[in-house]
Amino acid sequence: MPTPNLPHDRPVSLNDRFQFHCTGCAACCRHIKEGVPLDSLDAYRLTKYLRSQGIGPTCTDDVLMRFGEPVPITDSGYFSYFLKTVGDDDSCIFLNGNRCAVQEAKPTACRLYPIEAAPEKDGVFQIVLCTERPHHFSGPTHKVKNWYYRNMPEDVRAFYHFDFEHAPKIHLLLMAVPDEKKTAALLLFHKYRYSDFALDKPFMPQFMANIKNLICELEKLIQE
Ligand code: SF4
Repeated sequence: MPTPNLPHDRPVSLNDRFQFHCTGCAACCRHIKEGVPLDSLDAYRLTKYLRSQGIGPTCTDDVLMRFGEPVPITDSGYFSYFLKTVGDDDSCIFLNGNRCAVQEAKPTACRLYPIEAAPEKDGVFQIVLCTERPHHFSGPTHKVKNWYYRNMPEDVRAFYHFDFEHAPKIHLLLMAVPDEKKTAALLLFHKYRYSDFALDKPFMPQFMANIKNLICELEKLIQE
């Protein structure tokens, strides 16, 4: 998920309201280099969607290679995928004219826009309003609470909580991996966090098992 507290982010609470009107200009889909996360759950849903449309990808790896860009998040090598961009204006690879080609399966960050949310230590999500495109903020009034719960339902919030909860430990383990084993560690990281999913099984139990396996395998790698 995007990191809140950028200059154009304004913290809001669930009881706040905001005016927002989608003008169809697609400004929020341009100039987004390393700006829109393509998380594991996003990749899983996109893969299933594209496969259902007969477009071809058979696994999350295909989708990540074609539509994602890995970006290091910390100096341990911990990385996240972001939507690939194209052209001089760094448009999202899924932007077709001014329309989203994967509207039904777009990433959580796109669903939530103009809100961003990230879990904090106490389990509460910090919610911010992205105000960098002021022309969006007119028209109907929306309750933050309704927008947030509609676009980030319980199963999605559970995924982000679990992911964020385990990220610090994984970061520390990656830091502890000796240099000569770093490539092996990052391959494990990719496999368990992004790749090892059966599309005909529910996502969350697989993700939870994968993260536990990743921690276990990294510990083994450090001790060997
Ligand atoms: S996935 Fe769709 S909504 Fe999200 S940035 Fe790309 S074109 Fe825009």
